Amino acid sequence: MSTLIESPEQRALRTAVAALGARYGRAYFAASIRDGKHADELWAEAGKLGYLGVSLPEEYGGGGGGIAELAVVLEELGAAGCPLLLLVVSPAICGTVISRFGTDAQKRAWLPGLAAGTTRMAFGITEPDAGSNSHRLTTTARRDGGDWVLTGRKVFISGVDIADATLIVGRTEDARTGRLKPCLFIVDRDAPGFTRRPIPMDIASPEKQFELVLDEVRLPADALVGDEDAGLLQLFAGLNPERVMTAAFAIGMGRYAIARAVEYARDRRVWDEPIGAHQAIAHPLARSHIEIELARLMMYKAAHLYDAGDDEGAGEAANMAKYAAAEAAVRAVDQAVHTLGGNGLSSEFGLASLITAARVARVAPVSREMILNYVSHRTLGLPKSY
Ligand SMILES: Cc1cc2nc3c(=O)[nH]c(=O)nc-3n(C[C@H](O)[C@H](O)[C@H](O)COP(=O)(O)OP(=O)(O)OC[C@H]3O[C@@H](n4cnc5c(N)ncnc54)[C@H](O)[C@@H]3O)c2cc1C
Repeated sequence: MSTLIESPEQRALRTAVAALGARYGRAYFAASIRDGKHADELWAEAGKLGYLGVSLPEEYGGGGGGIAELAVVLEELGAAGCPLLLLVVSPAICGTVISRFGTDAQKRAWLPGLAAGTTRMAFGITEPDAGSNSHRLTTTARRDGGDWVLTGRKVFISGVDIADATLIVGRTEDARTGRLKPCLFIVDRDAPGFTRRPIPMDIASPEKQFELVLDEVRLPADALVGDEDAGLLQLFAGLNPERVMTAAFAIGMGRYAIARAVEYARDRRVWDEPIGAHQAIAHPLARSHIEIELARLMMYKAAHLYDAGDDEGAGEAANMAKYAAAEAAVRAVDQAVHTLGGNGLSSEFGLASLITAARVARVAPVSREMILNYVSHRTLGLPKSY
């Protein structure tokens, strides 16, 4: 990547993370998934080397960089076959929200651990009856003396079992109707009334998804992060990094898939020339490479706008980057699988397991259609159907 786009420090970070990723590699990641483990060794080492905390403030043990740097970390780990989904959540959403809106006590309590990777935090917004429509969230926080009491249900929340706490999006009782006025609460893994049930998923990933029940979960006053009246601004402070990081997740995975396909297509011969000499094999891979590079440029734009403090501008770019990256990754993985013929579907080559993993970026954290809606309404000014 040219220095026009990436600073020398970012390039050095990219090289260093790629070296870490190469030391672990796909075989390690696949074994973690197969054995029901969580790639903890890689997470711990990435934390120790400062990679998980690159975007968090230096005074709390972070690297003082931005989401652009954290995206480099996730992209390179993904390109090495180790896409750590929890990076999207723990440092990028939770770390950012606490850094920007937490009290000094909350920052001291959480940021050093999130930066070092010794503490992990999950993020729960999705609800069974709300889905893409966050205005329908019904998880409700009621004041009781100095405490908060939280009640509701969440679905598809990643990594709750390995997270020390979950940042839960709810709404206060008086804001139950009307437009969403979200409030963010830190809920400890073992808080009484907070239960989780794993959701069986056909996705090869070390992070599992959970359904959560919050049954009158009593929280101290300082579990609330930020201002209960701040509204969507605080939430989007975390969701724009989430979209940028989902783009990085998809781009890394797409790069990994294309690299495996290219390796294979260079060597595999069933006629005189390697299969990669056939344009029917070469061109779709070239097109996927272009699509991944284009998505990456938009990811950079979004990250730079966000890091420069332009939340509004970052919103549009982050949505577009997530869209472009997910579409590019889904097509890249599909083409990579196809390039390997029967081997593309074999466990030995391990590419087929990326088919569902890549599609995660198409639906989460916001689906392809909701981004098209956003661009239709916000960017193009078209009327709404809902
Ligand atoms: C692997 C994985 C991990 C996840 N991790 C987390 C997590 O850690 N935390 C968390 O909070 N959530 C998480 N999610 C949830 C994810 O963000 C949601 O699945 C996503 O927002 C879509 O919501 P839904 O599943 O309820 O789909 P729905 O909202 O029911 O949508 C179903 C389909 O209808 C389409 N649709 C809906 N409304 C419209 C409309 N107005 N116009 C056009 N099309 C529409 C959607 O695009 C989609 O294709 C995760 C999901 C997955 C699969």
